[in-house]
This record gives sequence, structure tokens and C-alpha cells, in this order.
Amino acid sequence: AEAGRRPLIAGNWKLNLDHLQSIAFVQKLAWSLQDAKLDFRTVEVAVFPPFTDLRSVQSLIVSDHFPITFGAQDVSEHDSGAYTGEISGAFLKALECTYAIVGHSERRSYHHETSELVGAKAAAAIRHGLVPVICVGETAEDLEARGASAVPVEQLETALAGLPKGSDIVVAYEPVWAIGSGQAATPEQAENVAAQLRAVVGTALGEEAGAATRILYGGSVKSGNIASFLREPNVDGALVGGASLVVDEFAKIARFQ
Ligand code: PGA
Repeated sequence: AEAGRRPLIAGNWKLNLDHLQSIAFVQKLAWSLQDAKLDFRTVEVAVFPPFTDLRSVQSLIVSDHFPITFGAQDVSEHDSGAYTGEISGAFLKALECTYAIVGHSERRSYHHETSELVGAKAAAAIRHGLVPVICVGETAEDLEARGASAVPVEQLETALAGLPKGSDIVVAYEPVWAIGSGQAATPEQAENVAAQLRAVVGTALGEEAGAATRILYGGSVKSGNIASFLREPNVDGALVGGASLVVDEFAKIARFQ
């Protein structure tokens, strides 16, 4: 990460931990980070629980003044109306979410989300004062056929096309083959793609946004490899799945320095 961008260590819980478990987890995490005297001026730690946990996580974090931010794993492209099962950006903002993940590869593959829809969800997040964490990444087949960067670059160009210049966003580069596989990308590959994604942000949202946007790497991040990613100039943090569900391991990742 280059100076000026505060690294973000983001825990994507996926479909794990109910609202009671979320309270115990966040409490332990906060204590663990406080015990370790984590300097929150140099790193931001965020959790992304299931929707039904958000109220509990909000109450705990706000009442105990824990210096942890949080967001949702998805957001509707709609603001309100006849959309059964959807959750609006307004609802998330009312729960003091900072972020909403959009376009995670599991939603792209299991729910057939296109980059156009991901862009509409990012726009909805921004409309409601949330920061979208826009996920992009190539499958193993894409990697074989077109190299690492072609698909993520296209996905991001499409997702950013309708966003206002200067929008506050986070980008997560997550090679699909690296997610949950134990086989992370190399720091060099992450840096190479992250640099190209930063250029895409600069073109779409303006140079200032390009320079300010945090680009995360995701896919089998662990305490043992996080530092190697953060040493790369264009990698500004990590989106962590499996390892974010173990308090001590996630706390170690947050203390990557
Ligand atoms: P992983 O998941 O850390 O378990 O590989 C990352 C993600 O899906 O965001």
C-alpha cells in the first residue's frame, strides 16, 4: 500500500455466524485488537456479517465505541417497493453500515449477477451514502484463456460506467480460483492486476479517485501471506473469507505490519 491510503482488512463472513454468535465474535475481536494495541490510524478493520446480524453488530460497536467498521454483503439496486427479499441501501445506512459488498463471485455465479447489475447496486450504495466494495476477478478458465487482468478490468469498467465522478468506492480483486482454495495469487499477480484496476478507476471516476481508492486483494489470505500482499504499492488491504471467522487469525491478519 502506498502512503495516503489507509489499508483495509475486511472480514467477509459469508453465510456464517447468527446474530448471537456475531455479538460474541465482535466482542472477542475488539478485545483481541485492543490487547495487541493495534494502531487504528494505520489500519482499518471491518466486518461484513449476514444482514440479520447487522443490528446486533451496530449496537455493540456503537455502544462500546469499538473502532471497527462494518457493512453488508450485498445491497439491492432498488430503493423500495415490491421487491420481495431485497434489502435497500437506505436500510443499511440507517444501521450505520459504512460499506456494502457488491458483485462477490459467489453472487455472480450462484445468482447470475452481471457487471451491469453490480454497477446498479454500487450506484444504489453510493446514493445512500454507503461505500460499495466492488468485487471483480477471473475464473481459472479466464486465467488460462485471457490472462489474469482482462476479465477483472472488463468487469470493473462495466460496473463503474454509471457512477458519478469522484465516487468513494473500494475495489476487491479476487481471483475466483483463489477463493477458499488455499491457493492464493502471488503478490506480483495481485499487484499487476491492482495497478490496472487503479487505472480503470482513474479513467472512470477521475484521477483523484484513482489515487485515493483502496484496492484489496482477496482469495486465501492468511496471517502468513498478508504482509507480502500489503508490501505491493497498489494493494491496500484484503477481503478475507475463511480466515476472518477465526478471531485470533483475523486479528493477526489485521496486525500485518
Ligand atoms: P477466502 O474468501 O479468504 O476464504 O478465500 C475470500 C472471499 O471470498 O472474499
